[in-house]
Amino acid sequence: MLSEFDLIKEYFQRPRHPVRASLGIGDDCALLTPGAGMQTAISSDMLVEGRHFFAGEDAYRLGHKSLAVNLSDLAAMGARPVGFTLALALPAAERSWLDGFSRGLFDLADAFNIELIGGDTTKGPLTICITVFGELAPDSALRRSAAQVDDDLWISGTLGDARLALAGYRHEVALDAASLQAAAVRMHLPVPRVELGMLLAQQRIAHAAIDISDGLVGDLGHILAQSGVGATLDVDALPAGAVLATRETALRRAYTAAGGDDYELCFTAPASARSAILAAAASVATPVSRVGRIDAASGLRLCDASGAPLDLALQGFDHFTS
Ligand code: ADP
Ligand code: MG
Repeated sequence: MLSEFDLIKEYFQRPRHPVRASLGIGDDCALLTPGAGMQTAISSDMLVEGRHFFAGEDAYRLGHKSLAVNLSDLAAMGARPVGFTLALALPAAERSWLDGFSRGLFDLADAFNIELIGGDTTKGPLTICITVFGELAPDSALRRSAAQVDDDLWISGTLGDARLALAGYRHEVALDAASLQAAAVRMHLPVPRVELGMLLAQQRIAHAAIDISDGLVGDLGHILAQSGVGATLDVDALPAGAVLATRETALRRAYTAAGGDDYELCFTAPASARSAILAAAASVATPVSRVGRIDAASGLRLCDASGAPLDLALQGFDHFTS
């Protein structure tokens, strides 16, 4: 029988990274030493079984996704990831689950060279809460409130395949097994756009940014509200995921504009930054698409490829109304 402390030692405590944290797992607190003159960026995201993932979800994928969604918030601020804490409620200390979960978690942590510095472990309904710590230069953060009139609107990567996979699992959309499997990679193993976010902030070429977790239209709405601006979005310019791109126009429009679980970046930047943005994105092999512009008139206007207004009944995801 695994005790709480054996479990932490065996699955979560690893040889210390030489430079990250000044003190990691094992004491009452971890200690971080920020780079001279740097600001610390902090964000938490919680994943609850039955709410954010299906009961019985593969442990490796859960480990990956619970860290990925947190790193996506650092990316959207333009911060460099440094470390994270893990608060875990587990129904039982099962070795096979812990082994898969910790591998998924640390494979992604190692890819971004960040360290698990502490946490909490308790028995309870499966709940994973991660807090990430990052750093960035003062005044370089990509704030939601920083969009300016006439900015271009940009999207990284592609949208909608995660939502298409969810619809496939729920039998809302007919998907053959191979398509479902391909789309589901986007749902289970999102890749946070950390390098792109860091470059946009460090080079000060973008104004506002947000990561798309609840659907583009809803998340973009936060930028518009906090910046006191509106926007026009060319729905047909939205880059669809490889599987969604093969589907009918109505589905493609709905799931790119308001899918959810995309973990791409939506950011605004002046037209004068276009070539710098394309160069930065190319340098980290991240595709970016220009999909609209920021307007002085409040509200979000959707249009099609010809510029004609589109009336889509779309909604962002909200945990208390969905
Ligand atoms: P305390 O009783 O002071 O809260 P704990 O006994 O909960 O401390 O934890 C002991 C050490 O193990 C602490 O350094 C804590 O940060 C770390 N820890 C506990 N759970 C986890 C976890 N799931 N992942 C990483 N570190 C953990
Ligand atoms: Mg504790």
